[in-house]
Amino acid sequence: MIFEIEDIPEGGLNLDLLAGKGQFEINQQDCSLAGDVKVKGRLVRLEQDVSFTGDLQATLQVACTRCLKLFPYNVKTGIKIHFIPRGKDPSPGNEIEIKETDIEQEIYEGGQVDLIGPVRDQILLEVPLMHLCREDCKGICSECGTDLNSNQCECQNEGQIDPRLAVLKNIKDKLK
Ligand SMILES: [Zn+2]
Ligand SMILES: [Zn+2]
Repeated sequence: MIFEIEDIPEGGLNLDLLAGKGQFEINQQDCSLAGDVKVKGRLVRLEQDVSFTGDLQATLQVACTRCLKLFPYNVKTGIKIHFIPRGKDPSPGNEIEIKETDIEQEIYEGGQVDLIGPVRDQILLEVPLMHLCREDCKGICSECGTDLNSNQCECQNEGQIDPRLAVLKNIKDKLK
């Protein structure tokens, strides 16, 4: 997704493309791209700077934080990137002020901007620290490793009842 700045017309360049997943190098065992990445938006030149505003859509294959099972995770988000040339004189007045924190600032060189890096960062940012295959995922037993979503194990049940509560339960039963 490299664009020659010279090729960006005065009024901006509309993009609507499908970028091959291989370019992004998101291929960890617990987080990988399941398909190509949809990128849609507009590249605009602002003197020497280039900005991109748009949306991206991707599907990742991530491992559930609790049970480690892989499941598809859809990412759909807006993206704003501001490219500035390397070595640009940052003298005041010349600088375009960036206050919004959701804009990624990138340095470009050689008269080209590349969207791959910022798009990759944005995709990874969208994956929450805690991602569950389903909201009530029971996870795996810490004792025996059984997947508690599909099976039950003995150790889980024993471990859950506090011995003190078991005593109380016995007393209650006797009072009946
Ligand atoms: Zn899970
Ligand atoms: Zn167990």
